[in-house]
Amino acid sequence: MVDENQEQDGGGVPLPDEQGFYGQYGGRYVPEMLVPALDELEAAYQRWKDEESFVSEVDDLLKNYSGRPTPLYFARNLSEHLGGAKIYLKQEGLGATGAHKINHCIGQAVLASRMKKKRIICETGAGQHGLATATVAARFGFPCTVYMGAEDVRRQATNVFWMRQLGATVETVEDGTRTLKDAVNAALKDWTWNVGDTYYLLGSALGPHPYPMIVRDFQSVIGREVRAQIMEAEGRLPDVLVACVGGGSNALGLWNEFLDDEAIRLVGVEAGGRSLEPGEHACRFEGGRTGVIEGYKSYFLQNDDGQVQKTHSISAGLDYAGIGPQHAYLRDIGRVEFSPASDREVIEAFQLTAGKEGIIAALESSHALAWVVKNAGSLPEDNVVVVNVSGRGDKDIFIVADAVGDEAWMKYCREYGAGRIQ
Ligand SMILES: *Cc1c(COP(=O)(O)O)cnc(C)c1O
Repeated sequence: MVDENQEQDGGGVPLPDEQGFYGQYGGRYVPEMLVPALDELEAAYQRWKDEESFVSEVDDLLKNYSGRPTPLYFARNLSEHLGGAKIYLKQEGLGATGAHKINHCIGQAVLASRMKKKRIICETGAGQHGLATATVAARFGFPCTVYMGAEDVRRQATNVFWMRQLGATVETVEDGTRTLKDAVNAALKDWTWNVGDTYYLLGSALGPHPYPMIVRDFQSVIGREVRAQIMEAEGRLPDVLVACVGGGSNALGLWNEFLDDEAIRLVGVEAGGRSLEPGEHACRFEGGRTGVIEGYKSYFLQNDDGQVQKTHSISAGLDYAGIGPQHAYLRDIGRVEFSPASDREVIEAFQLTAGKEGIIAALESSHALAWVVKNAGSLPEDNVVVVNVSGRGDKDIFIVADAVGDEAWMKYCREYGAGRIQ
C-alpha cells in the first residue's frame, strides 16, 4: 500500500518504497532474528503516526519540554559582514539537550510507550545521542542502556557523566576498535536477545528500514517551522537551505518539507577533516562507495576489503563512515549538492559566528556555517539562505580550546583534573 502521507521526492514517488528503498539505497539487511522486530516497529509507526492522541503528545513535549518552535533568527551582522545573501539561522541548539537530536528521541520515546516496551537501548559514539536518549528515558521512566566503545567513553567523559546522572546504564564496549561500530554490534546483540520488551532507539536517519523514515519524519518539524517562519519574515520561500550531514537527520529535518520546491537549492556539508586523504575526513561522497553495512545500503567510506574506513573530523557528531540512504539517493538524482568543510574552515566559521552574532554553534553546525562563510558573499543580495544550526557549542569546549590553544583554559584543566580530549 502506498501511503499518501509520506513525503514525495519531487518526482511524485513516495519515499521510501514498500521495501524501505530510496532508489537503490536503504532497505533492510539484517539477521533473520531481527526482521519481526522491524516489522513490528513499522506496523506500530504506521498505526500511530497520524493518530490524534499520539500526535498531540509528541507536539506537547516538543513545545513544553523542549521549547519548540526554535527561533529562526536573521543574522544581520553576519550577512553584512559577508556582503551577499541574507542569512537566517534556525536555532536548534536552543532546544532541550542543546541539539536537534531531542526531536527524534521524543518521537521514538512516545512510540516506545505506545508499543508498551519496557526498556530503551541505544548506541552512541560522541555521546550526544546517548545523552538525548537518556534524557527521554528519564522522562518516560524507561530503564535505559547506552552502549559506548571504551575509547569513546574515555574521550567523552562529560557526556558519560550526564548520562549516568540521568539514570542510564552506560555499557563500556571493549571489543574491536572500541568505538562506535563496536557499540552498534553490542546494541544489536542486546536487541536480538530482548526484542520482546526492548525499544532500540536510533540516533540518525540511517540503519535498516523503517528507521531512516521514522527519524526523518520526527525531524521534519524543523522544516515545517522554517517554512512558516520565513514566510512571516520575508513573505517568500528561501533560496538555499544549508545543513551539516553526519548520518543525515538534521539535514533531512530541514529539507524534507522542501524537497518538492525544486527552485530551492539544498546544500549538505560533510566533514572535510584535515584533508581529503583516506582516514583524514568523513566525506562519504569524496572517496566513499556504495555498500551494505550496518543493515542498509548506502555510500560508505571503506577500505579495499569493504571494511569501514577510519574517519576523522574535528566534530565528533560528523565522523561517521556511512550516510543515511535518502541522502545517497538525493545526491544521485542531483537534488542535493554536497560539499566538504575542513576542520580549519569550521573553526573559522565557529569564531566568526561567535564574534559577529554572539552565538556559540556546535562544531557540527559550524560545517554548515563554513559553507555560508565561503559562499554567501557571491550570492545576490536578495537571496535568502537558511542555515540549520543543529546544536549549540558548549559541549565542544575542550576541542575548541585545544584548536585555538587557550593557555588559561589548559591550565584550569590541568589543575582541576578535567580531561582534554585527544
Ligand atoms: C549528532 C549531531 C549532528 C549529526 O547528526 P545528523 O544525524 O547528521 O544530524 C549534527 N549536529 C549536532 C549538533 C549533533 O549533535
